[in-house]
Amino acid sequence: MRSTLLTNQWHRLPREETRRLQAKKLKRYLRDVVIPFSAHYRRLFKAEGLEADVIRSLDDLQRLPFTSKSDLLNTPDNPERAREFILIPDQQVLGRRPSTILRVLLSGRESVRRQFSSEFRPIFLTSTTGRSADPIPFLFTAHDLDNLSVAGKRLFEICGAQPEFRVLNMFPYAPHLAFWLAHYGGMAFGVFVASTGGGKVMGTEGQLRFLRKIKPEVINGMPTFVYHVLHQAVETGDRCENLRRIVLGGEKVPEGMRRKLRSLARELGAGDIEVISTYDFTEGKIAWGECPFPHDQPSGGYHLYPDLGIMEVIDPASGEVVPDGHPGELVFTPLDGRGTVVLRYRTGDFIDGGLIWEACPHCGRRVPRLLGNISRSSEFKTMQLDKIKGTLVDFNQLEHLLDDVEHIGAWQLELRKHNDDPLEVDELILHVQQRNGMDEQKLVRDLRARFIAQIEIQPNRIIFHDADKLRQLQGVGTQLKEQKIVDHRPDATKRSVAPSADRGFADEPNISTTAAGDGPVEELEVSI
Ligand SMILES: [Zn+2]
Repeated sequence: MRSTLLTNQWHRLPREETRRLQAKKLKRYLRDVVIPFSAHYRRLFKAEGLEADVIRSLDDLQRLPFTSKSDLLNTPDNPERAREFILIPDQQVLGRRPSTILRVLLSGRESVRRQFSSEFRPIFLTSTTGRSADPIPFLFTAHDLDNLSVAGKRLFEICGAQPEFRVLNMFPYAPHLAFWLAHYGGMAFGVFVASTGGGKVMGTEGQLRFLRKIKPEVINGMPTFVYHVLHQAVETGDRCENLRRIVLGGEKVPEGMRRKLRSLARELGAGDIEVISTYDFTEGKIAWGECPFPHDQPSGGYHLYPDLGIMEVIDPASGEVVPDGHPGELVFTPLDGRGTVVLRYRTGDFIDGGLIWEACPHCGRRVPRLLGNISRSSEFKTMQLDKIKGTLVDFNQLEHLLDDVEHIGAWQLELRKHNDDPLEVDELILHVQQRNGMDEQKLVRDLRARFIAQIEIQPNRIIFHDADKLRQLQGVGTQLKEQKIVDHRPDATKRSVAPSADRGFADEPNISTTAAGDGPVEELEVSI
């Protein structure tokens, strides 16, 4: 199944050929795997009068309905809704297939049973954060773990890793995609990986010990945390001369953050390093990354794997697919997933440069690429600036704004009610760590001017802290994910505009594994 042209030549084919092969693969995937074995999609396709045959070209993908996070959330009527998205094979359907009969004749019943078990039996999971709802487990079978390894290995290749590199993986140890992708990708690529488990497991001191001992060429982690660790390393007089790449995930990577990390790496004696961003979400079950690029040129964007899934960019209001290179919301459909499967999944993530197909100017790969910055709908927050109406504020933009200011290090934006009175207006408080000894009054004027230019509102207060206090505010070493934007208003979780895809970082993961394992997969037999 895997030795197809699309898989072998995934980064070399022209656009039209890729799309033709993707449509063929999608049709087969819907016909043989999703519609027969997914309770949700079997019902949906029937209700909509759809069959796999509607897919004649990739444009026909638009005939399928979207799936959103709200479709996966439990309801009082259906307390385990995510289970309906798990593929559970019907042994009679499988057993009647000529391909199964042939395989049994060639390799025996027991071998075919093992193959189906490894294809369909869930053995692993990652989970969404569940900040505003119950966490949703996304199940993986051995087949999915193979794809996770393939995607992870490609990510290492695209990032320009070398087998002799030593990788320090600082992603938080949790059932979250980034950690496991770094692990499985590293193993598949065949590189040395030491995983610290992040700040909550080993603290900053633990990361520094590993930095000294391993002398890594690559550091993987979340931008805010890696920044803290390297900043601390500079303060303690450590060196990190071998460092060549920092590969970031789990949060957006503003250009200013890249500059600050490169500058810290130089202070640690590393020379000019590459800072590479990756993009993933729990529901996609794989991740994509940039290739190294000259610092005076724009990034080549996130390189997609056309054999493993289809990314669409849509107008969020009309739901129509936008032309290549136009901004819009990202929608993902896997082409080879098992376990938990969602089709045409609306991520709630917006890409400002759209999807393009031209060969990458930096590495030459011919794959669809996502260009520009990604914003999350959950980071648009409604603020009550006066008592009359709410104002929508784009915190994605603020993140870029603050990381771009050269004279500040770590920062945190805090939202709270004036005098902590729930009936009062909202306040925006900026906590910053000043760097390079710039005059505080001048910095305050500069920050206020930038806020006005960008979002037309100013922070109510700007408070300066030292690095230790900022670490404490952000929860370095105590939270799985550092907190750059905190909402201390009552009912804060209800204020985001729309649910969005999930980068898989929770403060307190609370995961039910009851969806795994039971059901017909347990007794999978092939009868012919
Ligand atoms: Zn490239």
